[in-house]
Amino acid sequence: MKGGHKVNAGYSQLRWVVLLLAVAVILPTVCLLWFMSQAVKNERLAVRQKLIDIYQEKLFRAGQKTDETWSQNCKFQEVERAGSQPGKMLISLVCDGPYDGLIIYDAAGERIYPIFAADIGEQFDLAEEFAQAWGLEFAEQDLAAAVRVYQQKAQSYSDYVRIAALIGKSRCLAKLGRMDEAIATCRQAAYGDVQNSDDRLTTGLLFDAQLLLLEFLEQDAGKYQTLFRETFVKLLSAINADFEDDSVLACDRRIFLVKKILQISKRDRLVENYFSPGDRIRLGKLVAAEERCLDIAEYFPTTAGLESQQADVFRPLAAGVEVVYGLYHKTDEGSLLVWLCKENIIPALSDYESNFRDSDLIYRILDDSGRFVAGVAKPESEPFVTALVGRHFPGWKVQLYFKDGQAFEKAASRQIVLYTWTGVLVIVLILVAGGFAGRAVGKQAKLNRLKNSFIATVSHELKTPLSSMRVLVDTLLEGGFNQQQQATEYLQLISKENERLSRLIDNFLTFSRMERNKQAFDMVRASPAEIAADTVKAVQTKFNKGRCKFDVSIDENLPQILADKDAMVTALVNLLDNAYKYSYDEKQIELRVFAEDDSVCFSVKDNGIGMSSRAIKKIFSRFYQVDSSLSRSGDGCGLGLSIVKFIVDAHKGRISVESKPGKGSELTVKVPAAI
Ligand code: ADP
Repeated sequence: MKGGHKVNAGYSQLRWVVLLLAVAVILPTVCLLWFMSQAVKNERLAVRQKLIDIYQEKLFRAGQKTDETWSQNCKFQEVERAGSQPGKMLISLVCDGPYDGLIIYDAAGERIYPIFAADIGEQFDLAEEFAQAWGLEFAEQDLAAAVRVYQQKAQSYSDYVRIAALIGKSRCLAKLGRMDEAIATCRQAAYGDVQNSDDRLTTGLLFDAQLLLLEFLEQDAGKYQTLFRETFVKLLSAINADFEDDSVLACDRRIFLVKKILQISKRDRLVENYFSPGDRIRLGKLVAAEERCLDIAEYFPTTAGLESQQADVFRPLAAGVEVVYGLYHKTDEGSLLVWLCKENIIPALSDYESNFRDSDLIYRILDDSGRFVAGVAKPESEPFVTALVGRHFPGWKVQLYFKDGQAFEKAASRQIVLYTWTGVLVIVLILVAGGFAGRAVGKQAKLNRLKNSFIATVSHELKTPLSSMRVLVDTLLEGGFNQQQQATEYLQLISKENERLSRLIDNFLTFSRMERNKQAFDMVRASPAEIAADTVKAVQTKFNKGRCKFDVSIDENLPQILADKDAMVTALVNLLDNAYKYSYDEKQIELRVFAEDDSVCFSVKDNGIGMSSRAIKKIFSRFYQVDSSLSRSGDGCGLGLSIVKFIVDAHKGRISVESKPGKGSELTVKVPAAI
């Protein structure tokens, strides 16, 4: 019953240990899984934040560059001189600069560019002066009379009236079909005594005369080839000069002239060589810009509507249906309104375009009222970063989108895979370590059980010889023997039991030292023959009794071995003891010592019960005993061979077993020879 309790207690203890082990494995695994899921989640967030940071930085830098570019673009050095050379400014800001047009105001806020012909009041003056001539020419169609009146006016002291009269006369002559005279008159008007004038009206008339002359000549371009070309080139360069230098012409008049020139140049191949395609495009662009300047100028005749506007920033201009972003710049000398048309905004924000085009991103720029301006009009996903465009574009926003909606996931996935694998590896390691720990605990539990049974065996083994010795000693003390011979027999029995007891205790002690790793071997060069002799001496008395044939053969000239002599004797005595114990009554035991391959072999052979091959694999384990009647009845507790193995291992030797059930056994210890 007691034993049963002990076993139960052992099992419940084991159950606890297993439970603890399971907790030790499961708990960290579950924690790890939880940490992993958190880490994966955090990684996603971290990657998102990292990308947001990177692109916010990029946007910030693009914004800075845009600021720099536009701060530069807002240095309108020409404003001071603008009043005198608006054409030049138009070229530098529109043709060579980023803007789509401009209006220049003087210090008082009055518009000085663009100027309409109507601003100059030209029509009114001419109408009064030429009322009679125009009546004859247009209403009464009396061209000859009209020519006469124009001729009279052509004598006027006023350049303006004279040129206008010559133009009217040449027009009438042309209508009369007198082309040569018309051309001559017109040339007189265009290139006569007045070539240059500061007066806008006169200059306008000079240009009119030149254009009229060109049209006359074009009618018979074959005949007047040279003159036609000359006139074209002159007019073209005069217009260019007017643009770039003095800008005397009213803008609408200049636009009209340029358009005419462009038409003629398109119609007539004769002038092709004098007008390169580049120049033509440039002139076309300037004219288009000027036309727009005129359109917008109508809405802003003075700076009154602009004064409230913050300086040097783009705001939508309230100028017709077209969306135009205007920038108002003010200095002491005057002020300036420049603008960008919506379709031209992309080059103006090129720092964004260059940074975000062709990448994995798309960008979108919205103006201060949320109107789409540049980039991709309707992205499919949500923006992940939004920033302000810069101080010249107040309220404008730039938004970044990923082309691929899964971009964050993808960026995080590599790290997540790494985490997952690390986690899996750690879990596997925990499981493996748990497995090993479990096995170790199992082994330890088994060992404990064995130790318990060992203690029981030891007590039993020690008790048996002790009690038989006590009986014998008591008998001797009581004088319960008849003859001296019987006393001697009793004493011999006592000595035998004593010897058995000593050996048992020796084995227990060796085992105990072995267990605690305390067994110290005193290795010296030793003669195998001497070891064998000592062994024989130890077992001689026992083996000589009864029916036991004990043969000893020791080869001569054996090499020495490095050995702890006593330990080797213990090992061999154990082997011989087993041979004796596990043999039947007719015992034949043989101890052979011989040399083999630089080693010395100690072989113990018997004709005993032998062992199965399964048993052979286990006999060196501690406390193992083959379950046979002999091993049960004989003395011993399953330690002998484990001690032998321990000693042989310490000598760097090997032990081999050859045995068959019923056929006897041969155990051979092979120890390397000393060098
Ligand atoms: P024990 O104290 O039981 O002899 P050992 O460790 O010396 O323990 O031996 C282990 C077991 O091996 C023995 O119980 C026995 O069954 C078996 N054995 C050992 N030597 C022999 C042998 N020479 N012949 C048959 N069986 C043997």
